[in-house]
Amino acid sequence: MPSLQTQQLYIGGRRVDATSGETFDSINPANGQVLASIQQASQADVDSAVASAREGQKIWAAMTGLERSRILHRAVALLRERNDEIAHLETLDTGKPISETTSVDIVTGADSLEYYAGLAPAIEGRQIPLREDSFVYTRREPLGVIGAIGAWNYPIQIACWKSAPALAAGNAVVFKPSEVTPLTTMMLAEILTEAGLPDGVFNIVHGDGRVGEMLTHHADIDKITFTGEAGTGKKVMAAAAGSTLKEVTMELGGKSPLIVFDDADLDRAADAAMMANFYSSGQVCTNGTRVFVHRSIKSAFEAKILERVKRIKAGDPLDETSNFGPLVSFDHLDKVIGYLEAGKQEGARLLIGGERWVHDDYAKGAWAAPTVFTDCRDDMRIVREEIFGPVMAILAFDDEDEVVRRANATRYGLAAGLFTERLNRAHRVIHRLEAGICWINTWGDSPAEMPVGGYKESGIGRENGLSSLDQYTQIKSVQIEM
Ligand code: NAD
Repeated sequence: MPSLQTQQLYIGGRRVDATSGETFDSINPANGQVLASIQQASQADVDSAVASAREGQKIWAAMTGLERSRILHRAVALLRERNDEIAHLETLDTGKPISETTSVDIVTGADSLEYYAGLAPAIEGRQIPLREDSFVYTRREPLGVIGAIGAWNYPIQIACWKSAPALAAGNAVVFKPSEVTPLTTMMLAEILTEAGLPDGVFNIVHGDGRVGEMLTHHADIDKITFTGEAGTGKKVMAAAAGSTLKEVTMELGGKSPLIVFDDADLDRAADAAMMANFYSSGQVCTNGTRVFVHRSIKSAFEAKILERVKRIKAGDPLDETSNFGPLVSFDHLDKVIGYLEAGKQEGARLLIGGERWVHDDYAKGAWAAPTVFTDCRDDMRIVREEIFGPVMAILAFDDEDEVVRRANATRYGLAAGLFTERLNRAHRVIHRLEAGICWINTWGDSPAEMPVGGYKESGIGRENGLSSLDQYTQIKSVQIEM
């Protein structure tokens, strides 16, 4: 592994020094130690990355789909070979338990690359008959240079999910990882180059929101794909429109409802609610943080949750037996602690947790206790706003119409799910829920074949699945007269 002391940019198929002279630190949130100093890109660096992408894209797009596919498949193999090494670094950078990063983060990134590698040769146009002497054919051409901006919760997975369809379709990418978790995407860049990706087709520019703005305003970028908060997404979309009317894909926040009906398998529902609130310390965009439970089973459900929360094994994220780590940063810890206080002040009943951990080994890290509030009301901040931490809010409901109305009463629409043994009710309710990703009697799986994305303010467009390829190609119609 190259030295982590300093992280450069990745432009034109190699690591290069930034010209800004500015750096920022990447911190291990489990213990507060500095992991690396990262070079912040300047406008000149971003220009250089975009120019390099423009050149590389011409070579890449001129290859056949099969040639692109072979290179991407080689990258998949290399990613899988280096799974544990990348996972180790991801754990240091994000604080996520190694049991998660080795089994999910790189695996799901590689799955997406493999899925689109397989589809690269299958991108094709149509033939549309007009008259005897005339017809139209369509070509699906790449957009060109894609500016991609990532969030911090799944750094390498987000980089893969954004790049895979873009690259398969013959585009080049300039990727800006979150400044909070910038380390592993550099390994992805090196793997892509080693796999044979032409220089310049995948570039990395490090930095904070200012570098993101350089991408969204850039005159030579054709599309922006963004993952982050809805508020940032609005700024990104305005900049993308205001500069050169760029297309956008937006993967934004959520406050998703998880509904447990009175006939549900309670153990299954409780397991899913745990996954939907405490996996990755609750830092998952699709989390089901508003847990609506039928009033008749609420006490029994709470007992099952309490018993499970007590079994959580928090500890050193590098310890393979840990299943709960710190929050990603100290800034984020402050935000989450603010919500714990708000929940108490607004009168929610605290079942467990509700505090920052400052004892023993946790003293130097960004640790918040897994927290469950119950007897919550719809107007509470902990129920309305995305916390993005290990905080479950349980709300009682009495009937189906009521819970559908309350579940939909949010500006978000990323995910939704329900637990019931009644087939008709399951589908009837799911069809009424305003969300892009829905689960019945399960929660959280996101295979490469499944389109993911949000309704309402949770996003625009989809990642993964067949439809994502349409978002990285444009249709050219050609009419022929004979
Ligand atoms: P954020 O919006 O703070 O930052 C996201 C990225 O945007 C970062 O790289 C940041 O540097 C950049 N940025 C900041 N200001 C910018 C600007 N003005 N112009 C361009 N770029 C700018 O989000 P975050 O805190 O990193 O991530 C957490 C959020 O991401 C949560 O809301 C979560 O729900 C969401 N998320 C959504 C999905 C999804 O698939 N829907 C997946 C993961 C995370």
